[in-house]
Amino acid sequence: MTAYRGRFAPSPTGPLHFGSLVSALASWLDARAHQGTWLVRIEDIDGPRTVPGAAENILATLARFGMVSDEPPVWQSQRKPLYQQAFERLQTTGLVYPCGCTRKEIADSLLHVHARHTTLAYPGTCRHGLNGKPARAWRLRVPDGDAAIVTFDDRWQGQQTQNLATEVGDFVLRRADDQWAYQLAVVVDDADQNITHVVRGADLLDSTARQIYLQQCLRVVTPSWLHVPVVTNDDGEKLSKQTGALALDASRPLVALNDAALHLGLKLSETAALSREAFYAEAIAAWPARLKR
Ligand code: GLU
Repeated sequence: MTAYRGRFAPSPTGPLHFGSLVSALASWLDARAHQGTWLVRIEDIDGPRTVPGAAENILATLARFGMVSDEPPVWQSQRKPLYQQAFERLQTTGLVYPCGCTRKEIADSLLHVHARHTTLAYPGTCRHGLNGKPARAWRLRVPDGDAAIVTFDDRWQGQQTQNLATEVGDFVLRRADDQWAYQLAVVVDDADQNITHVVRGADLLDSTARQIYLQQCLRVVTPSWLHVPVVTNDDGEKLSKQTGALALDASRPLVALNDAALHLGLKLSETAALSREAFYAEAIAAWPARLKR
């Protein structure tokens, strides 16, 4: 069996909040329960959204919570040549094409085609050429018909299916602002770091089919998937920096850790609130049973 390698991959757009602590803890527990390796990857590929100092802050907070990467963290901003290489490999498949559509043009054409059924799938306008428009972004062509259906088994959510053609459409690899798209960077990194198990928040469930398809196009191994329920605020919105999630109180790590474990459905004893060691011992032991379906 291949040795377990998992990762927590925060985007440094602000301090760690409770939602990201839940994802970090889930990936940590899964790695430890498998006697595996746990890595932290700083996803600072999205230059405009990256907040200076946020990555260091996240790493320091994780350490205060007792979670330290088993290997030195990698930073996506330092790995751009890898994304370029993968992009060039994808170009040899003939599936990559330039797209000249603006967001507004895409939205307008969707309104026209799907006046009654709103869908966000890119309608493939530039598949057969730019029609004189300048290239803005680069897209990867998805299959047509049944070949567009991607199915995978999620260790928490069960069997998942997405039709890439009707639900997503040809998706962006290189953005109009000259940044590598999240989907490409994450797949390249997971493959390069030999990640065997992806454990992350269910807000990324919708990206998984695209990532599996990219893995197939790049001929790299697809890891196993586990998406934990996202934490929502009182209005039912995902807790994120955008919805104003508060930074964690790192001075009371045990309280936050026990809350995160509760969110993951782990029933721990009062002893788990006494020390970090006791917390992790109990949580790691409880994790495999939590996953039995
Ligand atoms: N960087 C992504 C985020 O913070 C997570 C990527 C992943 O786990 O695949 O939402």
